[in-house]
Amino acid sequence: MKETSEKLTRRHFVKLSSGVVAVSSMAFGGWGVTELLVDEGPVDSWHKSACRFCGTGCGVMLGKKAGKIVRVRGDKEAHNRGVICVKGSMLAEVSQLEGRATTPKIRVNGQLKAASWDEAMALVAEKFSESIKTNGPDSVAFYGSGQLLTEESYTANKLFKAGIGTNNVDGNPRLCMASAAVGYAQTFGKDEPAGAYDDLDHATCFFIIGSNTYESHPPLWERIMIRKKSNPNVKIIVVDPRKTETAQRADMYLPVVPGTDLMLLNAMAQVIVAKGLYDPGFIEEHVNFNDGGNTVSWEDYVAFLQDYAPEKVASELGLTPTQIEEAAFLFGASKATMSLWTMGINQRVQGVFLNNCISSLHLITAQICRPGATPLSLTGQSNACGGVRDTGSLAHILPGGRLVKKPEHRREMEKIWGVPEGTIAPKPGYDAVNLFRAMGEEKVKACLVMCTNPAQSLPNASRYREAMEKCFLVMADIFEDTETAQYADVILPAAFYIEKTGVYGQTERRYQLIEKLVDPPGEARSDLDILVDLAERLGHGDFISSKTPKDVWDEWRKVSAHSVYNFEGITYERLEKERGLQWPCPTEDHPGTVRRYSTGDPFVQEGRKVQFYGKPDNKAVVFLRPYIPSKEKTTEAYPLYLTTGRVIDQWHTGTMTDKVSELNTSSGRGRFFINPQDAFEANLNNGDEIEVESRYGKMVGKVEISENESPGVIFASFFDPKFLVNAVVSDQYDPVSKEPDYKVTAVSIKRHQPTAL
Ligand code: SF4
Repeated sequence: MKETSEKLTRRHFVKLSSGVVAVSSMAFGGWGVTELLVDEGPVDSWHKSACRFCGTGCGVMLGKKAGKIVRVRGDKEAHNRGVICVKGSMLAEVSQLEGRATTPKIRVNGQLKAASWDEAMALVAEKFSESIKTNGPDSVAFYGSGQLLTEESYTANKLFKAGIGTNNVDGNPRLCMASAAVGYAQTFGKDEPAGAYDDLDHATCFFIIGSNTYESHPPLWERIMIRKKSNPNVKIIVVDPRKTETAQRADMYLPVVPGTDLMLLNAMAQVIVAKGLYDPGFIEEHVNFNDGGNTVSWEDYVAFLQDYAPEKVASELGLTPTQIEEAAFLFGASKATMSLWTMGINQRVQGVFLNNCISSLHLITAQICRPGATPLSLTGQSNACGGVRDTGSLAHILPGGRLVKKPEHRREMEKIWGVPEGTIAPKPGYDAVNLFRAMGEEKVKACLVMCTNPAQSLPNASRYREAMEKCFLVMADIFEDTETAQYADVILPAAFYIEKTGVYGQTERRYQLIEKLVDPPGEARSDLDILVDLAERLGHGDFISSKTPKDVWDEWRKVSAHSVYNFEGITYERLEKERGLQWPCPTEDHPGTVRRYSTGDPFVQEGRKVQFYGKPDNKAVVFLRPYIPSKEKTTEAYPLYLTTGRVIDQWHTGTMTDKVSELNTSSGRGRFFINPQDAFEANLNNGDEIEVESRYGKMVGKVEISENESPGVIFASFFDPKFLVNAVVSDQYDPVSKEPDYKVTAVSIKRHQPTAL
């Protein structure tokens, strides 16, 4: 195999990757590209970096020649051990894409006209100042991204919350991982996971729910396959309404009805209790029970679970009682169980409850804080964890796991930032969906959008496109042809990630340094430079005193030392040499922390094996979380469920990957995937045009009949702006995390009748 692989070039690989069989036989069973597969001639120099795309945060080596990035390979010394996926393998192409935004633009009489930076920033500052003066600080907002560098999100958060005085700081991580962040915080007292990717090498049971790991996090899937190959007794359970590529490779596949899986988690807990698979000693020492308001007893929890006995819920789940019992047994009896989940759990109206319940299964079975035993929420974006969650750059939080609503947390941050008491507003700002609603109601009159494309990524997209038209919208991005650009009053050309310096923090609390390797094109600037400029023009230049990436990072390191996120020991100098470091890491000689809340974590008292120190009494919480049926129930008018997701070769709204010729042949373009039975009942064939309609909107696409879709469920991916599936998707959201539900929308389908011209 090695011989064959070494002869393959990256382009060959990408060509082959459209065929699952070819790739599966080359790799370990996934779609990862090993560094062996990439060899395309000499470069001037190699540089350590990390991939721009998903939260796997793969270490990459970027080959530079004549001032350009020309080659990419997986970094063998990084946590991904040299494996990257097709998207990562195209970073060189992405870095050289034509059509970049190179000069600021201002909309005049509906047309975008080139402007100088001074003209554009003066206009932005004037509009923001005017609105703050006339309507108060809450009339302006920042909408950021899990793809900005940490220094950029930190600076924006500080400027808006403690400079301007509004908590209207939110961003696209609200759309993908707010439920995970709230879930961890409720259960363990602090956000961010206990475990790490290292646990993939030790688990004997993988419980994968709401994650198509094979396509969305390929190097992690390969690591699971390597683990299974080393120990054939390792079991993989996959829960998903769709028979995804991941589900097809599971030992046990549970095709639940969309929106019902909270019942499955409670039913598994019921079996675990009934069959004595729980750990009374661990529970006694480390766990409290809570009904959502008050502390309750173990007996109360056991009684609560009775309603979820497998025979009572199996049919509604679309499973058999035996399937539930077997899954519970594998989970509870395994030496080390690792749960993995992502958008299928987070993007749900019960997203927080689902996150709570996954952690609860680990807590009652003591499947936590040991190698291979952990709940690990996989991250969507490259820097949603480090950049947004850790810096507190969402409307309801502050740095280091603090909450806006807690006066003592506001006082702490005011003291640290050196601003008068009362500067930080006591009310959380607008979360993503409500921010765009507030634009529609003309409550938010000016908004800076950085590094994201809400006109395509928001659910119920047509509603929020109209809202954007009512707001003075400033957009900073590397391209000016995104859907959001159509609504922008000012476009600011931004640097691509390797055209600037800063830190990314991925899923497992690992911070990695991105070093500037090439200059941005034209007049493009880093988002940090734009924020510093804005701060100065708004009169906050002294407050935003750290103006370079290193200065901001050093400030943020020192801020972190006032919390259990402490990473003061993670300096740029260390990150330049190391393949990332995991926090907590309080001193420069600390090696970083692989497993949090257990021996080796600097915040765990000596002599203790486990200590959930995020909670005052050091105990994590198992919540009694009832299943509440989704408002998106199917009806006669809307008899099917629409669910949306990613395909392997496209990143989010496709603004970068869809411009790469090797990637833009994606299988999902313009298609609704539909089960043969549903297609038969609707008299549809492959390629027929259908109109899919929900309570929110409609979209026309082609039928692709697939055995992998469950009866009653249709699937579409969201990367293609010409196929705006988010116009159909529900904007119902979780009441606590405010994360919208992209996974369960009731729809109808009918054959499309083109309107005669
Ligand atoms: S897209 Fe994700 S999995 Fe693929 S190389 Fe980049 S970080 Fe790794």
